[in-house]
Amino acid sequence: MTADRPPAPAFEEAVGARIAAARLWAVHQAPYLASAVFALKPVILEPALDEDTGEPVADPDFRAFPADTRWNLYVEPGTVLATPVEEVGWWMLHQVGHLVRGHAARSPVRPEAGQEMSHAAGAVRDEEAHRWNQAADAEINDDLEAEDLRGPAGVVSPKELGLPANRTAEEYVPMLDVLAQAMGRGGRALAEAIDCGGAVDGQVRAYEDDGSGDGLTRLDQELLERSIAAGIQDRISTRSEVPSGWRRWAEDRLLPSVNWRARLGAMIRRGVSTVAGQVDFSHRRPSRRAGAYIDIVPPSMVRAVPDTVLVIDTSGSVTNDVLNRLLAEVTGIIEGVAGPNRRLRAFCCDVHPHPVQVVRRAGDIKLVGGGGTDMRAAIAAAMALRPRPDLVIVLTDGETPWPEQRPAAHVVLCLIGDGGHAPAWASVARVPADPPRRVPAKGES
Ligand SMILES: [Zn+2]
Repeated sequence: MTADRPPAPAFEEAVGARIAAARLWAVHQAPYLASAVFALKPVILEPALDEDTGEPVADPDFRAFPADTRWNLYVEPGTVLATPVEEVGWWMLHQVGHLVRGHAARSPVRPEAGQEMSHAAGAVRDEEAHRWNQAADAEINDDLEAEDLRGPAGVVSPKELGLPANRTAEEYVPMLDVLAQAMGRGGRALAEAIDCGGAVDGQVRAYEDDGSGDGLTRLDQELLERSIAAGIQDRISTRSEVPSGWRRWAEDRLLPSVNWRARLGAMIRRGVSTVAGQVDFSHRRPSRRAGAYIDIVPPSMVRAVPDTVLVIDTSGSVTNDVLNRLLAEVTGIIEGVAGPNRRLRAFCCDVHPHPVQVVRRAGDIKLVGGGGTDMRAAIAAAMALRPRPDLVIVLTDGETPWPEQRPAAHVVLCLIGDGGHAPAWASVARVPADPPRRVPAKGES
Protein backbone atom coordinates (compact mmCIF):
# COMPACT_ATOMS: atom_id res chain seq x y z
CA MET A 1 0.00 0.00 0.00
CA THR A 2 1.38 3.40 -0.92
CA ALA A 3 0.29 6.97 -0.64
CA ASP A 4 1.05 7.68 -4.32
CA ARG A 5 -2.50 8.18 -5.45
CA PRO A 6 -5.10 10.05 -3.44
CA PRO A 7 -8.22 8.11 -2.53
CA ALA A 8 -11.42 8.70 -4.43
CA PRO A 9 -12.98 12.06 -3.42
CA ALA A 10 -16.12 10.43 -1.97
CA PHE A 11 -14.04 8.64 0.62
CA GLU A 12 -11.80 11.59 1.16
CA GLU A 13 -14.60 13.75 2.48
CA ALA A 14 -15.93 11.08 4.83
CA VAL A 15 -12.40 10.28 6.01
CA GLY A 16 -11.66 13.95 6.68
CA ALA A 17 -14.88 14.34 8.65
CA ARG A 18 -14.09 11.26 10.73
CA ILE A 19 -10.58 12.52 11.53
CA ALA A 20 -11.89 15.96 12.49
CA ALA A 21 -14.53 14.46 14.79
CA ALA A 22 -11.96 12.13 16.38
CA ARG A 23 -9.62 15.05 17.03
CA LEU A 24 -12.31 17.02 18.79
CA TRP A 25 -13.24 14.01 20.87
CA ALA A 26 -9.57 13.48 21.84
CA VAL A 27 -9.06 17.14 22.78
CA HIS A 28 -12.22 17.08 24.86
CA GLN A 29 -11.04 14.00 26.77
CA ALA A 30 -7.49 15.21 27.40
CA PRO A 31 -7.36 19.01 27.01
CA TYR A 32 -3.74 19.11 28.23
CA LEU A 33 -2.75 17.27 25.03
CA ALA A 34 -4.73 19.50 22.68
CA SER A 35 -1.75 21.07 20.89
CA ALA A 36 -0.23 17.63 20.41
CA VAL A 37 -3.44 16.19 18.98
CA PHE A 38 -3.66 19.07 16.51
CA ALA A 39 0.02 18.68 15.60
CA LEU A 40 -0.60 15.15 14.30
CA LYS A 41 -0.50 15.23 10.50
CA PRO A 42 -2.88 12.72 8.98
CA VAL A 43 -1.53 11.04 5.85
CA ILE A 44 -4.38 9.37 3.98
CA LEU A 45 -3.27 6.11 2.42
CA GLU A 46 -4.70 4.61 -0.72
CA PRO A 47 -7.81 2.65 0.22
CA ALA A 48 -8.08 -1.10 -0.11
CA LEU A 49 -11.26 -1.66 -2.15
CA ASP A 50 -13.58 -4.63 -2.10
CA GLU A 51 -13.32 -6.27 -5.53
CA ASP A 52 -17.07 -6.79 -5.82
CA THR A 53 -18.58 -3.69 -4.28
CA GLY A 54 -15.79 -1.18 -4.81
CA GLU A 55 -16.28 -0.10 -1.20
CA PRO A 56 -13.20 0.46 0.98
CA VAL A 57 -12.46 -2.36 3.41
CA ALA A 58 -10.70 -2.11 6.75
CA ASP A 59 -7.10 -3.32 6.94
CA PRO A 60 -6.36 -4.62 10.46
CA ASP A 61 -2.66 -3.85 10.02
CA PHE A 62 -3.62 -0.18 10.31
CA ARG A 63 -5.99 -0.45 13.25
CA ALA A 64 -3.58 1.53 15.48
CA PHE A 65 -3.40 4.43 13.00
CA PRO A 66 0.39 4.10 13.12
CA ALA A 67 2.52 7.22 13.43
CA ASP A 68 6.10 7.95 12.40
CA THR A 69 8.65 10.05 14.27
CA ARG A 70 7.73 13.18 12.29
CA TRP A 71 4.20 13.14 13.72
CA ASN A 72 2.58 11.80 10.55
CA LEU A 73 -0.45 9.70 11.39
CA TYR A 74 -1.15 7.08 8.73
CA VAL A 75 -4.85 6.74 8.08
CA GLU A 76 -6.13 3.85 6.00
CA PRO A 77 -9.55 4.94 4.66
CA GLY A 78 -11.39 1.63 5.06
CA THR A 79 -10.07 1.32 8.61
CA VAL A 80 -11.00 4.81 9.76
CA LEU A 81 -14.48 4.57 8.24
CA ALA A 82 -15.09 1.26 10.02
CA THR A 83 -13.83 2.55 13.39
CA PRO A 84 -16.04 4.54 15.80
CA VAL A 85 -14.99 8.19 16.29
CA GLU A 86 -14.16 7.54 19.97
CA GLU A 87 -11.80 4.74 19.05
CA VAL A 88 -10.00 6.80 16.39
CA GLY A 89 -9.66 9.58 18.98
CA TRP A 90 -8.32 7.10 21.54
CA TRP A 91 -5.61 6.01 19.10
CA MET A 92 -4.70 9.66 18.49
CA LEU A 93 -4.09 10.18 22.20
CA HIS A 94 -2.21 6.89 22.28
CA GLN A 95 0.08 7.87 19.39
CA VAL A 96 0.72 11.27 20.97
CA GLY A 97 1.93 9.29 23.98
CA HIS A 98 4.48 7.35 21.91
CA LEU A 99 5.72 10.53 20.25
CA VAL A 100 5.96 12.84 23.23
CA ARG A 101 7.60 10.25 25.46
CA GLY A 102 10.31 9.55 22.91
CA HIS A 103 9.68 5.82 22.57
CA ALA A 104 11.48 5.70 19.20
CA ALA A 105 14.69 7.11 20.67
CA ARG A 106 14.40 4.88 23.74
CA SER A 107 13.76 1.74 21.69
CA PRO A 108 16.24 -1.12 21.98
CA VAL A 109 15.27 -2.26 18.46
CA ARG A 110 18.06 -1.94 15.89
CA PRO A 111 17.41 -1.67 12.15
CA GLU A 112 18.24 -4.62 9.96
CA ALA A 113 21.09 -3.43 7.77
CA GLY A 114 19.72 -2.08 4.51
CA GLN A 115 16.21 -3.39 5.08
CA GLU A 116 12.93 -1.75 5.77
CA MET A 117 10.71 -3.43 8.26
CA SER A 118 7.50 -4.86 6.94
CA HIS A 119 4.46 -2.88 7.98
CA ALA A 120 2.36 -5.97 8.37
CA ALA A 121 1.81 -7.03 11.94
CA GLY A 122 1.34 -10.57 10.68
CA ALA A 123 4.67 -10.57 8.85
CA VAL A 124 7.94 -11.38 10.50
CA ARG A 125 8.40 -8.93 13.33
CA ASP A 126 11.14 -9.60 15.61
CA GLU A 127 10.11 -10.58 19.09
CA GLU A 128 12.08 -7.77 20.68
CA ALA A 129 10.30 -5.14 18.57
CA HIS A 130 6.96 -6.66 19.41
CA ARG A 131 7.69 -6.72 23.14
CA TRP A 132 8.95 -3.13 23.08
CA ASN A 133 5.74 -2.03 21.34
CA GLN A 134 3.68 -3.75 24.04
CA ALA A 135 5.77 -2.29 26.86
CA ALA A 136 5.52 1.21 25.39
CA ASP A 137 1.76 0.68 25.05
CA ALA A 138 1.58 -0.31 28.71
CA GLU A 139 3.39 2.90 29.70
CA ILE A 140 0.83 4.99 27.80
CA ASN A 141 -2.34 3.05 28.37
CA ASP A 142 -2.37 3.19 32.14
CA ASP A 143 -2.52 6.98 31.92
CA LEU A 144 -5.41 6.73 29.48
CA GLU A 145 -7.13 4.30 31.83
CA ALA A 146 -6.60 6.76 34.66
CA GLU A 147 -8.79 9.12 32.61
CA ASP A 148 -11.39 6.38 32.22
CA LEU A 149 -10.39 6.05 28.59
CA ARG A 150 -10.37 2.33 28.08
CA GLY A 151 -8.67 1.11 24.94
CA PRO A 152 -10.21 -1.06 22.24
CA ALA A 153 -10.26 -4.81 22.76
CA GLY A 154 -6.89 -6.51 22.50
CA VAL A 155 -4.61 -3.62 23.52
CA VAL A 156 -2.15 -3.99 26.38
CA SER A 157 -3.55 -2.88 29.73
CA PRO A 158 -1.33 -3.04 32.84
CA LYS A 159 -4.49 -3.07 34.97
CA GLU A 160 -6.02 -6.05 33.21
CA LEU A 161 -2.72 -7.92 33.21
CA GLY A 162 -2.34 -7.36 36.94
CA LEU A 163 0.83 -5.32 36.48
CA PRO A 164 1.70 -2.26 38.57
CA ALA A 165 0.73 1.08 37.04
CA ASN A 166 2.92 4.11 36.39
CA ARG A 167 6.01 2.27 35.22
CA THR A 168 8.18 3.03 32.22
CA ALA A 169 8.34 0.93 29.06
CA GLU A 170 11.83 -0.21 30.11
CA GLU A 171 10.34 -1.48 33.37
CA TYR A 172 7.44 -3.22 31.65
CA VAL A 173 9.64 -5.21 29.22
CA PRO A 174 10.88 -7.81 31.75
CA MET A 175 7.44 -8.01 33.40
CA LEU A 176 5.78 -8.68 30.07
CA ASP A 177 8.45 -11.25 29.17
CA VAL A 178 7.68 -13.20 32.31
CA LEU A 179 3.93 -12.87 31.88
CA ALA A 180 4.00 -13.80 28.19
CA GLN A 181 6.03 -16.88 28.99
CA ALA A 182 3.63 -17.95 31.70
CA MET A 183 0.53 -17.24 29.63
CA GLY A 184 2.13 -18.95 26.63
CA ARG A 185 2.41 -22.12 28.66
CA GLY A 186 -1.32 -21.87 29.20
CA GLY A 187 -1.73 -21.48 25.46
CA ARG A 188 -2.74 -17.83 25.65
CA ALA A 189 -1.35 -14.68 24.14
CA LEU A 190 -0.58 -11.60 26.19
CA ALA A 191 -2.26 -9.23 23.76
CA GLU A 192 -2.88 -8.85 20.07
CA ALA A 193 0.07 -8.07 17.80
CA ILE A 194 -0.59 -4.41 17.13
CA ASP A 195 2.00 -2.34 15.30
CA CYS A 196 1.96 1.32 16.34
CA GLY A 197 4.49 2.32 13.67
CA GLY A 198 7.88 4.02 13.68
CA ALA A 199 6.80 6.30 16.53
CA VAL A 200 7.47 3.32 18.82
CA ASP A 201 10.83 2.06 17.58
CA GLY A 202 12.16 4.53 15.02
CA GLN A 203 12.18 1.94 12.23
CA VAL A 204 10.89 3.03 8.83
CA ARG A 205 7.77 1.18 7.68
CA ALA A 206 7.08 0.28 4.04
CA TYR A 207 4.10 2.66 3.77
CA GLU A 208 6.20 5.68 4.77
CA ASP A 209 7.33 6.60 1.28
CA ASP A 210 8.21 9.67 -0.75
CA GLY A 211 7.89 12.16 2.09
CA SER A 212 4.14 12.33 1.53
CA GLY A 213 3.88 14.05 4.85
CA ASP A 214 7.06 15.88 5.70
CA GLY A 215 5.93 16.27 9.25
CA LEU A 216 7.51 18.09 12.15
CA THR A 217 11.21 18.89 12.39
CA ARG A 218 13.10 18.11 15.55
CA LEU A 219 12.94 21.77 16.53
CA ASP A 220 9.16 21.82 15.99
CA GLN A 221 8.89 18.77 18.21
CA GLU A 222 11.08 20.28 20.90
CA LEU A 223 8.99 23.46 21.02
CA LEU A 224 5.76 21.51 20.95
CA GLU A 225 6.87 19.29 23.82
CA ARG A 226 7.86 22.27 25.92
CA SER A 227 4.54 23.97 25.36
CA ILE A 228 2.65 20.78 26.24
CA ALA A 229 4.72 20.39 29.40
CA ALA A 230 4.15 24.04 30.34
CA GLY A 231 0.41 23.59 29.75
CA ILE A 232 0.35 20.55 32.02
CA GLN A 233 2.21 22.47 34.74
CA ASP A 234 -0.33 25.30 34.44
CA ARG A 235 -3.18 22.87 34.88
CA ILE A 236 -1.53 21.30 37.90
CA SER A 237 -1.06 24.73 39.48
CA THR A 238 -4.77 25.43 39.03
CA ARG A 239 -5.58 22.03 40.50
CA SER A 240 -6.90 20.49 37.30
CA GLU A 241 -6.63 16.75 37.06
CA VAL A 242 -3.72 15.39 35.04
CA PRO A 243 -2.80 11.68 35.15
CA SER A 244 0.35 10.96 37.15
CA GLY A 245 2.37 9.67 34.19
CA TRP A 246 1.84 12.91 32.30
CA ARG A 247 2.47 14.92 35.43
CA ARG A 248 5.82 13.21 35.93
CA TRP A 249 6.70 13.62 32.27
CA ALA A 250 6.03 17.38 32.41
CA GLU A 251 8.09 17.78 35.58
CA ASP A 252 10.99 15.92 33.99
CA ARG A 253 10.71 18.02 30.86
CA LEU A 254 10.65 21.41 32.59
CA LEU A 255 12.27 21.18 35.99
CA PRO A 256 15.10 18.71 35.69
CA SER A 257 17.30 20.52 38.21
CA VAL A 258 14.76 20.85 40.99
CA ASN A 259 15.68 18.67 43.90
CA TRP A 260 18.23 16.77 41.86
CA ARG A 261 19.30 14.52 44.74
CA ALA A 262 15.82 13.08 45.17
CA ARG A 263 15.47 12.83 41.44
CA LEU A 264 18.81 11.10 40.99
CA GLY A 265 18.01 8.71 43.81
CA ALA A 266 14.67 7.89 42.22
CA MET A 267 16.30 7.31 38.85
CA ILE A 268 19.00 5.06 40.26
CA ARG A 269 16.34 3.16 42.17
CA ARG A 270 14.26 2.92 39.02
CA GLY A 271 17.35 1.82 37.09
CA VAL A 272 18.02 -0.77 39.75
CA SER A 273 14.51 -2.20 39.61
CA THR A 274 14.52 -2.10 35.81
CA VAL A 275 17.71 -4.03 35.41
CA ALA A 276 16.93 -6.32 38.30
CA GLY A 277 13.93 -7.51 36.30
CA GLN A 278 11.85 -7.45 39.43
CA VAL A 279 8.29 -8.45 38.90
CA ASP A 280 6.58 -6.86 41.81
CA PHE A 281 3.02 -8.07 41.94
CA SER A 282 2.88 -8.06 45.70
CA HIS A 283 1.23 -4.72 46.43
CA ARG A 284 -1.49 -5.12 43.88
CA ARG A 285 -4.18 -7.67 43.57
CA PRO A 286 -3.79 -9.38 40.20
CA SER A 287 -6.77 -9.52 37.93
CA ARG A 288 -8.52 -12.79 37.36
CA ARG A 289 -7.17 -12.94 33.83
CA ALA A 290 -3.52 -12.90 34.87
CA GLY A 291 -3.86 -14.17 38.44
CA ALA A 292 -3.65 -17.82 37.54
CA TYR A 293 -0.18 -17.35 36.11
CA ILE A 294 1.46 -15.28 38.79
CA ASP A 295 2.49 -18.21 40.97
CA ILE A 296 4.70 -19.72 38.33
CA VAL A 297 6.99 -16.74 37.82
CA PRO A 298 10.42 -18.35 38.00
CA PRO A 299 12.45 -16.93 40.91
CA SER A 300 15.53 -16.89 38.69
CA MET A 301 14.07 -13.87 36.92
CA VAL A 302 14.75 -11.73 39.95
CA ARG A 303 18.31 -10.49 40.32
CA ALA A 304 19.02 -8.50 43.42
CA VAL A 305 21.54 -5.78 42.63
CA PRO A 306 22.65 -4.38 39.29
CA ASP A 307 26.24 -4.17 38.21
CA THR A 308 26.90 -0.44 38.15
CA VAL A 309 29.64 1.47 36.38
CA LEU A 310 30.45 5.14 36.92
CA VAL A 311 31.72 7.13 33.96
CA ILE A 312 33.35 10.45 34.82
CA ASP A 313 33.88 13.20 32.26
CA THR A 314 37.31 14.63 33.09
CA SER A 315 37.60 16.69 29.92
CA GLY A 316 38.58 19.84 31.78
CA SER A 317 35.35 21.79 31.38
CA VAL A 318 34.24 20.41 34.76
CA THR A 319 36.47 21.14 37.74
CA ASN A 320 37.75 18.37 40.00
CA ASP A 321 36.14 20.07 43.01
CA VAL A 322 32.72 19.73 41.44
CA LEU A 323 33.42 16.16 40.32
CA ASN A 324 34.65 15.07 43.73
CA ARG A 325 31.65 16.56 45.49
CA LEU A 326 29.30 14.96 43.01
CA LEU A 327 31.05 11.60 43.20
CA ALA A 328 30.61 11.56 46.97
CA GLU A 329 26.92 12.35 46.59
CA VAL A 330 26.36 9.80 43.82
CA THR A 331 28.16 6.96 45.59
CA GLY A 332 26.20 7.86 48.73
CA ILE A 333 22.97 7.51 46.81
CA ILE A 334 24.09 4.18 45.32
CA GLU A 335 24.94 2.92 48.82
CA GLY A 336 21.51 3.98 50.00
CA VAL A 337 19.89 2.00 47.22
CA ALA A 338 22.15 -1.02 46.88
CA GLY A 339 23.74 -1.31 50.33
CA PRO A 340 27.10 -0.12 51.75
CA ASN A 341 30.65 -1.17 50.90
CA ARG A 342 29.90 -2.38 47.44
CA ARG A 343 32.75 -2.61 45.01
CA LEU A 344 32.15 -0.18 42.22
CA ARG A 345 33.77 0.07 38.82
CA ALA A 346 34.56 3.55 37.58
CA PHE A 347 36.55 5.10 34.80
CA CYS A 348 37.41 8.58 33.66
CA CYS A 349 36.93 9.69 30.08
CA ASP A 350 38.02 12.62 27.94
CA VAL A 351 38.40 11.95 24.23
CA HIS A 352 39.42 8.41 25.24
CA PRO A 353 38.33 6.22 28.11
CA HIS A 354 40.97 5.73 30.83
CA PRO A 355 41.59 2.42 32.67
CA VAL A 356 38.90 1.03 34.95
CA GLN A 357 39.31 1.59 38.70
CA VAL A 358 37.63 -0.71 41.19
CA VAL A 359 36.84 1.23 44.37
CA ARG A 360 34.76 1.05 47.53
CA ARG A 361 34.54 4.76 48.26
CA ALA A 362 34.21 7.85 46.11
CA GLY A 363 37.41 9.21 47.64
CA ASP A 364 39.38 6.32 46.15
CA ILE A 365 38.61 7.35 42.58
CA LYS A 366 41.57 9.05 40.91
CA LEU A 367 40.54 11.71 38.46
CA VAL A 368 42.71 11.58 35.34
CA GLY A 369 42.35 13.22 31.95
CA GLY A 370 41.76 16.58 30.29
CA GLY A 371 41.11 18.13 26.91
CA GLY A 372 38.01 17.29 24.83
CA THR A 373 35.20 14.84 25.45
CA ASP A 374 33.73 12.01 23.42
CA MET A 375 31.05 10.15 25.33
CA ARG A 376 30.51 7.84 22.35
CA ALA A 377 33.87 6.27 23.19
CA ALA A 378 33.01 6.19 26.90
CA ILE A 379 29.64 4.47 26.43
CA ALA A 380 31.20 1.98 24.01
CA ALA A 381 33.93 1.24 26.56
CA ALA A 382 31.34 0.77 29.32
CA MET A 383 29.38 -1.67 27.16
CA ALA A 384 32.56 -3.59 26.34
CA LEU A 385 33.30 -4.27 30.03
CA ARG A 386 32.95 -7.83 31.27
CA PRO A 387 30.82 -8.52 33.15
CA ARG A 388 28.74 -6.04 31.24
CA PRO A 389 27.19 -3.40 33.51
CA ASP A 390 23.40 -3.24 33.97
CA LEU A 391 23.44 0.38 35.00
CA VAL A 392 25.77 3.14 33.79
CA ILE A 393 25.90 6.44 35.67
CA VAL A 394 27.58 9.24 33.74
CA LEU A 395 28.84 12.47 35.31
CA THR A 396 29.31 15.08 32.59
CA ASP A 397 28.53 18.63 31.51
CA GLY A 398 27.04 17.20 28.32
CA GLU A 399 29.35 19.10 25.97
CA THR A 400 29.96 15.97 23.93
CA PRO A 401 28.60 13.87 21.10
CA TRP A 402 26.45 10.91 22.23
CA PRO A 403 25.75 7.53 20.60
CA GLU A 404 22.59 7.72 18.49
CA GLN A 405 21.25 4.35 19.53
CA ARG A 406 20.23 3.48 23.03
CA PRO A 407 22.93 1.32 24.66
CA ALA A 408 22.11 -2.11 26.07
CA ALA A 409 22.33 -0.88 29.68
CA HIS A 410 20.17 1.63 31.52
CA VAL A 411 22.00 4.98 31.53
CA VAL A 412 21.50 7.65 34.17
CA LEU A 413 23.03 11.01 33.36
CA CYS A 414 24.11 13.59 35.93
CA LEU A 415 24.22 16.64 33.70
CA ILE A 416 26.38 19.24 35.44
CA GLY A 417 25.59 22.94 34.93
CA ASP A 418 23.14 24.59 32.58
CA GLY A 419 24.71 23.81 29.21
CA GLY A 420 25.25 20.62 27.28
CA HIS A 421 22.66 18.24 25.97
CA ALA A 422 21.48 14.75 26.80
CA PRO A 423 20.41 11.95 24.46
CA ALA A 424 16.73 11.00 24.54
CA TRP A 425 17.52 7.45 25.66
CA ALA A 426 19.09 8.48 28.98
CA SER A 427 17.46 9.33 32.29
CA VAL A 428 18.71 12.81 33.14
CA ALA A 429 19.18 14.75 36.37
CA ARG A 430 20.44 18.32 36.01
CA VAL A 431 22.97 19.01 38.73
CA PRO A 432 24.01 22.57 39.60
CA ALA A 433 27.69 23.32 39.10
CA ASP A 434 27.97 25.50 42.22
CA PRO A 435 31.27 25.24 44.06
CA PRO A 436 31.09 22.88 47.03
CA ARG A 437 29.64 24.58 50.09
CA ARG A 438 31.64 23.25 52.95
CA VAL A 439 33.93 24.71 55.56
CA PRO A 440 37.58 23.93 54.72
CA ALA A 441 39.20 21.54 57.17
CA LYS A 442 42.25 22.71 59.12
CA GLY A 443 45.33 22.83 56.96
CA GLU A 444 43.34 23.28 53.78
CA SER A 445 43.57 26.61 52.05
ZN1 LIG B 1 1.04 1.86 20.75
